[in-house]
Amino acid sequence: MSNRDWSHLLDIPPFPAENYAVLADRLGALMATKNDVLLIQAEAVLALEAVATSLAHPGLKALNIVTSPYGTWFGHWLAAGSADVVNLTAPPALPITVEAVKAELDRHTDIDILSLVHAESASGILNPLEEIAALARERGILTIVDAVASVGGHALDVDRLGIDIAVIGPQKALAGTAGLSAISVSSAAWTLLQHDKAPRISMLSLLDQKEQWLDLGRHALPGTPAPLEFFALQAALDRLEAEGIVEVQKRHELAQHATRAGLLALGAQLWVPDPVASALITAAVLPEDIDRRTFLSRRNIAGADITAGVGPDTERLVRLNHTGRRASEEAVLANLTAFSQALEVQGHQNDLQAALKSAADTYRRSVNNL
Ligand SMILES: *Cc1c(COP(=O)(O)O)cnc(C)c1O
Repeated sequence: MSNRDWSHLLDIPPFPAENYAVLADRLGALMATKNDVLLIQAEAVLALEAVATSLAHPGLKALNIVTSPYGTWFGHWLAAGSADVVNLTAPPALPITVEAVKAELDRHTDIDILSLVHAESASGILNPLEEIAALARERGILTIVDAVASVGGHALDVDRLGIDIAVIGPQKALAGTAGLSAISVSSAAWTLLQHDKAPRISMLSLLDQKEQWLDLGRHALPGTPAPLEFFALQAALDRLEAEGIVEVQKRHELAQHATRAGLLALGAQLWVPDPVASALITAAVLPEDIDRRTFLSRRNIAGADITAGVGPDTERLVRLNHTGRRASEEAVLANLTAFSQALEVQGHQNDLQAALKSAADTYRRSVNNL
């Protein structure tokens, strides 16, 4: 890594203007949508802020589902724009339930938009997006989805589910770089975005993007685009499409199942049950007598990536990362090895060989089932 020649990153030619629309279409295909796709020249948190800020105005009522800090921020941006925000917060590090969403929608019959995160890399949970989107659709409510972490790891059927705005980024399961993001926008969402409090002449303005790019025929992007980021996105999409998006999703699912099987063989406690677990990271609950800081200081074996849970009440959680290029047998086995050794250092005997076998068997079984 350190002796790479970074000077290759200099003197990059401009990104060909005609290729921006091609990239947008390729991202639309990943999201399974025919909606407009905007390319945002910033990391995905800015895209999320742009969506909330562009939608927000007095008189807009939002049901904002909170399952991590991203949801908290989204509600904050909506409220900063004087929208009426009802925050529905799931129990810490757990998914929201369909019943809770339904009850809240029944309580507030004047909701205009519903926002949620699809899958969380902070806690390793998967929200019941399909059912929630259906509830919203029945009531004529627009759905806004943060799919930054989930795209590539889980099926994301924007048009089939009727998702009006979806935000994605290449830096998680798509294994790209973090400097760009994308937003899909339905025609109903464009109608809602047309209001006289909408930000203009602003990096946060979706209407500016529409007028300065979509409406002008999707040629050059406004401003000075960073060619490095666009070439990197193109390369990430080339690699992804060569493998196939469904294969990429399967690879994440397999890493998830192998990780869970291995952890169970180590006697570890999984944080969430299968149906609500994300394929991006797996969270495990440490035993009471294990000190997490010591545990995490012992996890640094080559190829492993184990970190602390993020958010309130996650003090006992650790996360095994199997997102993007890490959704591989090699990374799963390295994580399990690190987990086993970190337990053993604190006197918890465990059967690493059994764990590695369980994980490897998960992979062998999937090959035999092809
Ligand atoms: C990663 C992620 C983002 C992007 O935020 P960064 O932490 O800055 O990469 C947004 N939403 C979700 C759900 C994410 O997992």
